[in-house]
Amino acid sequence: MAYDYDLFVIGAGSGGVRAARRAAMAGAKVAIAEEYRVGGTCVIRGCVPKKYMVYASEFGRMFEHAKGFGWTAENVEFDFASFMTTLHAEVDRLSGIYTRNLNNAGVDVHEERAEFLDAHTLRLTTSGKHITAEKVLIATGGEPWMPPEIPGIEHAITSNEVFHLKSLPKRMVIAGGGFIAVEFAGVFAGLGVETTLIYRGDTVLNGFDWDIRTHVHEELKRKGVRVVTQATINEIKEAGASHEVTFSNGETCDADVVLMALGRIPDTDGLGLELAGVHSDAKGAIEVDQYSKTNVDHIWAVGDVTNRMNLTPVAIREGQAFAESVFQNDPNFFTYDNVPTAVFTQPPVGTVGLSEEDARHKYGAIDIYKTTFRPMKDLLTGDEERVMMKLVVREEDQVVLGCHIVGPEAPEVIQAVAIAVKMGATKQDFDRTCALHPSIAEELVTMREKYIPPELA
Ligand code: NDP
Repeated sequence: MAYDYDLFVIGAGSGGVRAARRAAMAGAKVAIAEEYRVGGTCVIRGCVPKKYMVYASEFGRMFEHAKGFGWTAENVEFDFASFMTTLHAEVDRLSGIYTRNLNNAGVDVHEERAEFLDAHTLRLTTSGKHITAEKVLIATGGEPWMPPEIPGIEHAITSNEVFHLKSLPKRMVIAGGGFIAVEFAGVFAGLGVETTLIYRGDTVLNGFDWDIRTHVHEELKRKGVRVVTQATINEIKEAGASHEVTFSNGETCDADVVLMALGRIPDTDGLGLELAGVHSDAKGAIEVDQYSKTNVDHIWAVGDVTNRMNLTPVAIREGQAFAESVFQNDPNFFTYDNVPTAVFTQPPVGTVGLSEEDARHKYGAIDIYKTTFRPMKDLLTGDEERVMMKLVVREEDQVVLGCHIVGPEAPEVIQAVAIAVKMGATKQDFDRTCALHPSIAEELVTMREKYIPPELA
């Protein structure tokens, strides 16, 4: 049977775009469909605009710091509307580049939603067109999740809407203790918004190394975020132009904006997976093998929709591995160990490899090296912010299993450290590396004393 396309990709985000372009460049006839905007979550309403918001928010402290170096920075003002216009112009530019790159690779771009009619047929929901394809890649990503049972939840927003606020709120409540909640708590507190973070646990960033968690938690508070723990939102009531938010601990809090950042779910609702015979798990995540193939022989899935490791560069690598395996006769798959990640708190987190807890659990005997200190720059600014650095080392062969940093430019530093960790560098390799002075990162190669917990000292 002749199909319209060799490959149809559903979703033009990071994973889908990489796969579509690679497949087309290998000579396949490829189409891609996108229901919202080409670029996907990362470019349109995630990593990229978020990082610009982090940059915007950091300037407040920089003006304060400048005084320590003899600068006068008075009557500085922040124009939220003008910043948002610039930010969206950049997002538009990037989305345009993604579309152009697809076009240049010869991919047909359909800017509308696609749903399965059967395992080889897609329906474009706006035009009503039916398209057949020999192979299909599902790369629809994820979407924010909100607990539907909370009375007044319709007054809350998610990370989708946060990039479209018309004005800077005066008071904000942010629910959650994960990536998105802590990043936006830092952003809005830095922009002068009275920010309350409400988290159901004790210490934010569950799953990260304990020293990262406690450091970020304390820095959030030091930066003026009111952190309420062991509590959730019970109700959100309209109160004039604002909202009254009731917490499970009985407290109430007024907020102009309530941002729910309680996790994301795979975006598979209404996709017609059952018509194509594709299996998904209870959360809606598409089940795939290591080559990203679903239970249907000619259908694959990459990125957040598979709920493996929900990060942009991982989706890109999965998309690339798929295209190389299927269209370039080069079977390969992405391996998920030692993927560096960042959390753009203020200061930011950079982390790679195993946390101390996971390393102990997996290997037993572990050496820990860690340090906290005030960065040199702040000795003149007076800022009390501290850097935390930690190496997790397997005792038996001294291999560095994890590196965890909270401090200025930690994401930049960890990207380079990740090469060493991925290569299996030992603590002695770190020690042999000459320090670069004066820098924050030099501490990574000058930590000599093993950390002994106070109770064992
Ligand atoms: P996360 O999974 O990181 O965090 C969800 C938070 O919500 C956790 O603190 C969790 O608590 C809490 N939570 C979950 N369910 C409930 C509930 N019913 N009631 C109260 N609290 C609840 O999700 P995010 O939304 O922050 O981010 C989604 C994903 O996006 C991340 O996992 C990451 O993959 C990606 N991302 C990556 C970024 C980066 O790389 N810098 C930035 C932003 C997003 P608990 O801890 O107790 O489970």
